[in-house]
Amino acid sequence: DYELGEADPEVRGIIDKEKERQFRSLELITSENFTSRAVMEAVGSCLTNKYSEGLAGKSGVSMFNPSGSPANFEVYTAVLNPHDRIMGLDLPHGGHLSHGFMTPKRRVSGTSIYFESMPYRLDESSGLVDYDMLEKTATLFRPKLIIAGASAYPRDFDYPRMRKIADAVGAFLMMDMAHISGLVAATVVANPFEYCDIVTTTTHKSLRGPRGGMIFFKKDPILGVDLESAINNTGGPHNHTIGGLAVCLKHAKSPDFKAYQNKVVSNCRALANRLMEYKLVSGGTDNHLVLVDLRPLGLHGARVEKILNMASITLNKNSVAGDKSALVPVITLEAKNLVSGSKLQDFMKFVTSPEFPLIDKVLNLQRRVEALTTQYPLPGL
Ligand code: PLP
Repeated sequence: DYELGEADPEVRGIIDKEKERQFRSLELITSENFTSRAVMEAVGSCLTNKYSEGLAGKSGVSMFNPSGSPANFEVYTAVLNPHDRIMGLDLPHGGHLSHGFMTPKRRVSGTSIYFESMPYRLDESSGLVDYDMLEKTATLFRPKLIIAGASAYPRDFDYPRMRKIADAVGAFLMMDMAHISGLVAATVVANPFEYCDIVTTTTHKSLRGPRGGMIFFKKDPILGVDLESAINNTGGPHNHTIGGLAVCLKHAKSPDFKAYQNKVVSNCRALANRLMEYKLVSGGTDNHLVLVDLRPLGLHGARVEKILNMASITLNKNSVAGDKSALVPVITLEAKNLVSGSKLQDFMKFVTSPEFPLIDKVLNLQRRVEALTTQYPLPGL
């Protein structure tokens, strides 16, 4: 029984390097977080050796999923028949692939292969979900499932409105709160549980737990479906993850966790306020993320992402409503959208400004960014 360094020095080296990177860099990727040492101890424990199949009593929650996408898919197979209709936020407008996505040529998401998906979208001028359009489309399309939740949406969803729309067409309402579950647990954003039939989440984003997925459902049958028996098709639970999740959820009930989530929201607001001179999707934020529309600046998202990554500021590009392509925005962007060095430095001001938290950590990165923009001139990608 060897230690990792002895058994596989190569993997040990990769882990050490990644740990060093995580400590050195400023991580701004909204779907990531730093879980606690206690959670990591549970995840790396002997619980990984143990099988324990079957639902643990009547609970209204399934913690058996290895991740968010399979949790969503499990819900779909529980409440839908193959080729039933679903509506989720369009991927290019901030939705998630597991909510269904297809182009005119291809059913890109597995969800769209097995179910018929019709997206709802943002109102491009306000950057907010276009609920009127959702209502109209739902009335015609008559989905069996409507999905709230997103990967890149800085605002709360209007759950009462979505509930009304779902009821009018006889659809289930599901919220995928993957990004904001920590904020929901701390009650610093709107509560989806009051309005939704099913709530899914990943456990490793704002919740700060181990990598996993959870499904919450009502115990009473809804629209003729007994969710408790329908949501049961996963195999052996990952007990090490469930152990880590128990540690995380205990912490989530503490005042300390609530204070942390409050800080997440206030820090994010401070960042958004500092960025007001740029165009923010929806004009601000209610949660943990800010989306800067780079098009008016003539900046190229993929390039900014790459350069900042090289300068140890890790964030990610996203398509925004109105982009030409969600899948390959880099290729379809026009030449005028390529970044110039001075624009990039301008953009850098916000992460290096005194209002931005962690300023000590990022101040000395500005010089690296400047050096990199000289080293990697246009077009660079
Ligand atoms: N749902 C949403 C809204 C997400 O943003 C993500 C991932 O970022 C997922 C589901 C999928 O999670 P996973 O990558 O754990 O499958």
